[in-house]
Amino acid sequence: TRCFSAMSKEDMVSHQVDVDLGDRSYPIYIGEDLITRGDLLTKHIHGKQVLIVTNETIAPIYLEKLTRVIQESDPSLQVESVILRDGEQHKTTQELMKVWDKAMELRFNRKATFVALGGGVIGDMTGFAASAFQRGVYFIQVPTTVMAMVDSSVGGKTGVNHPLGKNMIGAFYQPQCVLVDSLTLKSLPNRETASGVSEIIKYGLIWDADLFRWLEENIESLVDSDHPEFGRAISSAIERSCAIKAEVVAQDEKEGGIRAFLNLGHTFGHAVETYSGYGTYLHGEAIGVGLTMAADLSHRLGWVTEDIKDRTIALVKRSKLPTTPPESMTPDDFLELMAVDKKNVDGNLRLVLLRGELGTCVVTSDFEKGKLMDVLNTHC
Ligand code: NAD
Ligand code: MG
Repeated sequence: TRCFSAMSKEDMVSHQVDVDLGDRSYPIYIGEDLITRGDLLTKHIHGKQVLIVTNETIAPIYLEKLTRVIQESDPSLQVESVILRDGEQHKTTQELMKVWDKAMELRFNRKATFVALGGGVIGDMTGFAASAFQRGVYFIQVPTTVMAMVDSSVGGKTGVNHPLGKNMIGAFYQPQCVLVDSLTLKSLPNRETASGVSEIIKYGLIWDADLFRWLEENIESLVDSDHPEFGRAISSAIERSCAIKAEVVAQDEKEGGIRAFLNLGHTFGHAVETYSGYGTYLHGEAIGVGLTMAADLSHRLGWVTEDIKDRTIALVKRSKLPTTPPESMTPDDFLELMAVDKKNVDGNLRLVLLRGELGTCVVTSDFEKGKLMDVLNTHC
């Protein structure tokens, strides 16, 4: 359903969204303190061997707890862990070897389960490690960032970066389940929270006008984890976002069509990320810039009203996300960096753009290139 139902107090308790992919279907459990629900995890663990993959920032906060909870739920399991270095710059094949090294040293077999405990970097790496270890072992996602909860843990895209391009080495590989404990966001820096919110704004723009309007009412409570309404608001937004992503992925798992909608703002955004280098703009911050530019271009093409453009930019700003590319970036930098986008076909730049009513978009290379130049000249 595309209807964003009224939010009630019950939104705080757990919710389930199902990703419908035939024999690869799986549930997303969403709620507060779900990390203590070992039963939800152990029912998706098949063999006796469990490898939790996390990083040096998250391990001190949540690793012991998660290990204990799984162990207590099923004392017959062997629960091990591996701790990777933190950061997008370590999303590499070298770092990934540490997962395989650990699994080999422990003599893990084909029934093993890898559990990703962390943000999108850990989730993408663990999924890819699981897809290839002995040609595929079981895999569970326990996302701990907003970005991972609303986007990266759902849909089965896994992988690592290549020195010449982001996410260039990877596989489609679906998890057994996703366990979202919204209380883990209490320790997440607000800058990271806002970065994830950019993807929630994206879902509203491409799919769900009611979600967009709800964001206009609630955005301040979403981007500050100390806000009294944060728990309620973020849980609702996560549930709705997962439902939208699940619906899109169920219709187009391998991105032959509408899954590309999820890339709204990402062609401009990736150019900003690549130009500025890892960590200068967080992914979601670059998407803030990208949504701004995509909305502006859509309006200049006459595809959406000025009202929709203005409201998009206002929402990005209220999320404390940037709307402008780095000072030194030029239109030529954009054109060069956007030319390598995975969506392009035969050298033609394809973009996801807003078109029509709020909540609808298109993916197309059929737009006036002069308007794109106007956008680049205005924002650079
Ligand atoms: P991230 O995984 O780097 O996490 C951000 C930072 O927060 C890290 O320093 C991390 O250690 C820290 N952290 C995580 N959880 C925490 C917590 N609960 N408390 C305190 N600190 C915590 O970044 P991200 O934004 O979660 O993910 C970005 C990555 O996700 C990118 O590599 C991107 O390519 C990928 N991604 C993948 C998909 C997909 O479909 N597979 C979609 C979107 C993004
Ligand atoms: Mg994204």
